[in-house]
Amino acid sequence: MKKRTTKAGTTRAAAGRRAVPRPKPGFARETAGARRARTTALLQRLYAEYPSAQCSLAHRDPYELLVATILSAQCTDERVNQATPALFRQFPTVADLAAARPEEVEELIRSTGFFRNKTRSLLGMATAVAERHAGEVPSDMAALTALPGVGRKTANVVIGNAFRRNDGVVVDTHVARLSQRLRLSRAEDPVSIERDLMKLVPREHWTMLAHLFIYHGRAVCRAPTPRCEACTLSDLCPSSRG
Ligand code: SF4
Repeated sequence: MKKRTTKAGTTRAAAGRRAVPRPKPGFARETAGARRARTTALLQRLYAEYPSAQCSLAHRDPYELLVATILSAQCTDERVNQATPALFRQFPTVADLAAARPEEVEELIRSTGFFRNKTRSLLGMATAVAERHAGEVPSDMAALTALPGVGRKTANVVIGNAFRRNDGVVVDTHVARLSQRLRLSRAEDPVSIERDLMKLVPREHWTMLAHLFIYHGRAVCRAPTPRCEACTLSDLCPSSRG
């Protein structure tokens, strides 16, 4: 079937995929130094706007945060926080979870969606932590991402919030969307977006950067329609509709 094209010559499908509008005048030829200065300014604004920004997943230790983060895939943090207290009461340690029957876990996490896959990931992760790490959740990227069901985003959540180290930037859907709208990255894939952010933002802010972007993404810079008229970053944002 013949593809329909827009006036600019792009296909309608390609136009629909374009997440970020053209930058406003003044941002189009921004130097690397100017982008770094703009990033510093917008971080300051977000710190002022969300002074209590933090990880929204309830947890008491690395094990609980790792489990909660695995459960948070395709699910809200609120819903995860409703499910985890009963789960942790029944399986308070990695060893308890590794020994669990799948049906028991499925029943406790059913409300978070994709519960069969998530149960497989949880039991695989717990077994691996019990066997390879004596029941202690490892704290480095390579060991974490070697666990079943644990990708770079999950590992960054655990390293940044449970172990309090700035080794990377969590790139979820909010962080990716804001990074693109704010023209801090033109990349589409999370690993490249993370790499761009790590070049722009001083290391001590890497964990907080994700929290601030997530808060702002939920409250103001929403998908699909951002509330630019209410945005504290409007004058610093190349995509502002204000
Ligand atoms: S000005 Fe609009 S697009 Fe830019 S960060 Fe704010 S809400 Fe998002």
